[in-house]
Amino acid sequence: MIARASMRRALRYVLLADFLVGLRKGMRYFLAPKATINYPHEKGPLSPRFRGEHALRRYPNGEERCIACKLCEAICPAQAITIEAEPRADGSRRTTRYDIDMTKCIYCGYCQEACPVDAIVQGPNFEFSTETREELFYDKERLLANGDRWEAEIARNIELDAAYR
Ligand code: SF4
Ligand code: SF4
Repeated sequence: MIARASMRRALRYVLLADFLVGLRKGMRYFLAPKATINYPHEKGPLSPRFRGEHALRRYPNGEERCIACKLCEAICPAQAITIEAEPRADGSRRTTRYDIDMTKCIYCGYCQEACPVDAIVQGPNFEFSTETREELFYDKERLLANGDRWEAEIARNIELDAAYR
């Protein structure tokens, strides 16, 4: 019995059976479509619901969407949002301060769900790592700049997701 097993092992060794099995498997994966991508030069697809970096949006005429209702601040479970507001000369209510401490944020998406005017959103950007904590204390200027930068993608994602809401 032991002699037969040894013979079989020796035969496999002489005929390079293990090598050929490995080669066949290697060739199959060599010719198959690649599962990996060459990040950051190539990027994978993102869901329209992806919850990335925050942004404050404007209307097409440049006016801020945010009406300073503070629902996002109230609902944020991490208490990461700080808003101060006062009425403008025309009677409209706008924020004078809108800060998000991104080091506290848990990316739950509640702020954007609570917003009645789609002002605060989580955009598609996930490449915003920093070297210091201070760079992750976002103010209104930074959030509006994010909104201006990503508006086309954000608007398209909201449109794509609208049918499921
Ligand atoms: S995503 Fe969640 S934790 Fe982050 S700011 Fe919005 S509500 Fe707060
Ligand atoms: S971002 Fe939206 S929810 Fe937050 S204060 Fe402005 S309007 Fe209200």
